[in-house]
Amino acid sequence: MALIRKRRLTEQQQRRIQQQQKSRQEDLDTSSDLEGLVVQHYGRQLEVQALSTPEIHPEKPVVLAGEPEPSWKPIELGSVWRCHTRTNLEALVTGDRVKWQADPNTGLGIITAIHPRQSLLTRPDRYHKVKPVAANVSLIVIVFASFPEVAPSLIDRYLVACASADIPALLVLNKMDLVKENDPILTLVEEYKNLGYEILLTQSDGDLTELAQRLAGETVAFVGQSGVGKSSLINTIIPDAAQKTNVISENSALGQHTTTSTRLIAFGENAALIDSPGIREFGLWHLNIENVQNGFPEIFNLLGYCQFRNCTHKHEKQCALRQAASAGEILPRRLESYLRLIDEIAEAQQKN
Ligand code: GDP
Ligand code: ZN
Repeated sequence: MALIRKRRLTEQQQRRIQQQQKSRQEDLDTSSDLEGLVVQHYGRQLEVQALSTPEIHPEKPVVLAGEPEPSWKPIELGSVWRCHTRTNLEALVTGDRVKWQADPNTGLGIITAIHPRQSLLTRPDRYHKVKPVAANVSLIVIVFASFPEVAPSLIDRYLVACASADIPALLVLNKMDLVKENDPILTLVEEYKNLGYEILLTQSDGDLTELAQRLAGETVAFVGQSGVGKSSLINTIIPDAAQKTNVISENSALGQHTTTSTRLIAFGENAALIDSPGIREFGLWHLNIENVQNGFPEIFNLLGYCQFRNCTHKHEKQCALRQAASAGEILPRRLESYLRLIDEIAEAQQKN
């Protein structure tokens, strides 16, 4: 009984969500509002960049001689406006494409609708609620290096996070100047290539043309351990990035405090970077069992072929995963990494 009621509610909720989406879509089709891109958000404040201009520009008021010049902000392509959102909208994040209206008199704008998202990075907040962090990221660049030494299981973890967000990953082995001939890290590179992952080798102050070309047309986020050279790479590709990503003071009811904003910076050929200290930690966020399976396609294919349905894949003789690992069909290291992540999730669930 309880189950049935729960399902009905869910259906009702779904219908409501569909209706909301439909009316939102109609809003999008009929409104003459401007197109915009959320380029920064911190706290409740958002900044929107104008991607279109009105057909008829509002006219600047005529100033009579001797009267003070009123404030007036022309609506120019690419100009950035501080905006509020209509209260009926869901939480917006950096990277969102929106419809909005500008008020040249105040220099402020209001966001009226949000375009469907191609992707959404979310993270759990302190209260285990899912919080959106960045929208429309199309490529995640996972940077690693031989120093600080890379833990392959950490790369696997990032790959799991990318797969579960349904965003392609690009692996970048940076600090190639530190890599010697026959360096074991090159074996790791080969392993990921063989698994079908895209991988580039770089040196932060070297020639980054290939990387820059790969990023053309993409909205990217750089992730990876601290010290691997993310900032250095970003600063070489986007020379003014350092000045553009900064900490902002925000006035709130609780007084002034500093928040680190998530910033979108356009660069190169139609590319954009979405960056914040939080986003760089993407991959270390909460995972669930399905996420983990998505990040290990070669292991996922073998699940269900073990002798026992509840196989732990640790000591069973007729275990399809262990057999595949000893036959060299999958990497023992990847299996270990997979089992470790599964254990970690089980532990976390016990704690909650
Ligand atoms: P982040 O924490 O990932 O942003 O890393 P940083 O960009 O701050 O770089 C960490 C340290 O590694 C700094 O001392 C950089 O100068 C150094 N570094 C960055 N890229 C390279 C590289 O390609 N080769 C070498 N040898 N050092 C690098
Ligand atoms: Zn098994």
